[in-house]
Parts: sequence; structure tokens; C-alpha cells
Amino acid sequence: MKIHEYQAKEILRGFGVSTPLGIPCHNVDQAVSAATQLGGSAWVVKAQIHAGGRGKGGGVKLAKSLDEVGQIAAKMLGMTLITHQTGVQGQVIRRLLIEQGVDIKKELYIGMVVDRTNQLVCLMASSEGGMDIEQVAAHTPEKIHKVLINPLTGLDDPDAANIARKIGIAESAIPEAQSFLQNLYQAFDETDASLIEINPLIIDGDNHVLALDAKMNFDDNALFRHPEIASLRDLDEEDPSEIEASKYDLSYISLDGNIGCLVNGAGLAMATMDIIKLYGGSPANFLDVGGGATAEKVAEAFKLMLHNPNLQAILINIFGGIMKCDVIAEGVVAAVREVRLSVPLVVRLEGTNVDLGKRILSESGLPIISASTMSDAAEKAVTAARGV
Ligand code: ADP
Ligand code: MG
Repeated sequence: MKIHEYQAKEILRGFGVSTPLGIPCHNVDQAVSAATQLGGSAWVVKAQIHAGGRGKGGGVKLAKSLDEVGQIAAKMLGMTLITHQTGVQGQVIRRLLIEQGVDIKKELYIGMVVDRTNQLVCLMASSEGGMDIEQVAAHTPEKIHKVLINPLTGLDDPDAANIARKIGIAESAIPEAQSFLQNLYQAFDETDASLIEINPLIIDGDNHVLALDAKMNFDDNALFRHPEIASLRDLDEEDPSEIEASKYDLSYISLDGNIGCLVNGAGLAMATMDIIKLYGGSPANFLDVGGGATAEKVAEAFKLMLHNPNLQAILINIFGGIMKCDVIAEGVVAAVREVRLSVPLVVRLEGTNVDLGKRILSESGLPIISASTMSDAAEKAVTAARGV
């Protein structure tokens, strides 16, 4: 799960990580009173969307007066911000963070992720903060320093101080940088985060270390332990089809192709998408209805796929193991009758009672294209999608 920058900063402050002071807001009046409350003579108005690269896209602006704060807020709210992480459709700005303008001496980079190969949390740090870290990784990987953190000891003093030195933090700021990194690791560990990115981490004019930007992602499987974090979920930032799918316990991911896939089991779903590609088609979604796919679940899955304006054919590929093929076939027939299908439907069943299942489909009188093997199914779905 992702959260906004202002929410990440609130969590991090709770662990003793320093950030500039800021106040989130939803409208222009709130923005101006936030700036008044913060005081000072310079503020930064920051678009709160679940994507990075806001600065380059016009979503981070400096204001030198309260009037300017209001003008920038008025322009930003409701605007569609396009960054390299939002995709071409962009993301509508609904919330802002009004933050103290900070005197930046140096912009650095800090990241923490779960390193699956080593089964440890990896701390990454670079002197090249504030710009695309992907570019640094691609062209000057030697400028990214890494430390693997032992979960039993946490980030120890020497490791924290060493990595701070490697990214060019002056000796006088090392103790502060060390506790900054240790607090950050504690936040990562205790919140079951899957990623923390501070880009930039800055050294300010008074030699203090601050998180100027903050991104935090969390392990969905651990959210039950953190109801206060789960409550920060912002549905406006998520794909409406994926939210709908989660209500019915369907694993659904929107993709940009035109062949809807309804499959039981994630592995079979991946293989189905692969074989569609192999036959020159393109999947419109990943959809795993799970082991116990009821007629109701199948009907909901159909509705989800049919919301997609790009949809030109549906391919159902189901292995009747726990569920028998005849039960699945009845579910499909009921679902097709309920949703009044507008695109060709190819069905491939395999497993227990497959013959009975196929007979139910063919005797239903519905225009269902039956397929025998995966190749046959993919070929028929690709042809059907072309024919629309
Ligand atoms: P993004 O990574 O989405 O572009 P950031 O929060 O990193 O957004 O902001 C982009 C840039 O804007 C930073 O690298 C920094 O130079 C500047 N900036 C952000 N917040 C402040 C602030 N509070 N004071 C001064 N400059 C800021
Ligand atoms: Mg940033």
C-alpha cells in the first residue's frame, strides 16, 4: 500500500526523523492559513499524489508571499499532474502539502527496501540526491552505497556513520545523520514497510539533516497489524476496477490490451497472458478468481472486465480441480445471461467432468466459442478480438 508524502512524514516524525514543518490541505483557504500558521517568508506548495517526479511536472512550487501560496494552490488543486511515474493519463491533484521553505545546502539520496535475494533490509545512499536516482544507478552505479541490515542488531553505529561519510556528510553532522538513519530503519522495521525513499535528504544552512521528501510503501500482508496505517489508504489514487475487485476477493490488475482474461490460479493466469502474447494478442487484465470461484464471483469478474472500454474479447481458462468443470460451466452460463455479453467469449475448460462442462456450454444456446487446448483458446481469442 502506498501513502502520501505528508502522511509518510507524520509517521517518520513519530520515530524521531526530522522533516520540515508542513500542513496538508484540500482548498485555497486552508492553504493560506496553513502558510500563516507555519510563519516564515517562503513556503513550498507540494501536490500530494502517489507518484514521484512531481517537481519536474510542476507539482512542487516555491511561494514567497501568502498571496502567492493562494495563487499556486488555486492553480494546482484540480489540475492533472503528469510525471514519469503517473503514465500519460496523469493524476488529479486533490490534496496539497504546504511546507516551510528550507535553505538547502546539499541534496542527498536515501532508500530502504527489502532485498529478497539476501533476505535483509538494504539501505542505499548516494551523494547524488534530488535527481533521477534511476539515472545514477544506470550510469554511475559506484555512486550508490549499500548496507545490508542485520535484523537482530538493527543499523549499528559504525555502519550508519560510515555510509553517512561515504555520501559526503561533513564530520560535524555525522552524529545527527547517524541517528537519522537509525530512526529511519526503526520506522521501516516497526511499520512493516516495504520501501522508504528519502529523495532528497538534505543538509540545511545550519548543518541539520532533514527528510525533504518521503515516500513509504507497506507490505499489504502486514497491514492487519497496523490499522492506523491501513486507514491512510487513499482510494482516489487507485484504479477503480482494482478497488471493486478487492471487494469480491478477486485479484485483478488492469492492463492496456484488449483481451479480458478470467482464470483460476495466479500461475495459470500468468501463463494465459503469455500465450495470448505469443499468438499476437494483448491481455486487457490479469484476473485470478481463486480456487473456489462461485457463479457470483464469476459474474462480478465479467462485470469488471466489461467496464473496460478497450475490451474486444474474453478468454476464460479454468482448470477444474477443486471445482468441477460442470459447476464452473453452470456458473459461466449464469454469469453470461446476467451481464448480457457484448464481446466474443472463448472458454477453455480442463479437469474433472470436462465433458459434462463442455456439454452445458454448448447446450446453453449462448454464443460461446469452445476451445480445447491453451493454444487453441489463445488463437481463437486473438482472432475473435480482431474481428470486432
Ligand atoms: P518529487 O520527488 O516528487 O519531485 P520533492 O519533494 O523531492 O518532489 O521536491 C522536488 C524538489 O523541490 C526537491 O528536490 C527540492 O529541491 C525542492 N523542495 C521540496 N520541498 C522543499 C522545501 N520544503 N523547501 C525547499 N525546497 C523544497
Ligand atoms: Mg523527491
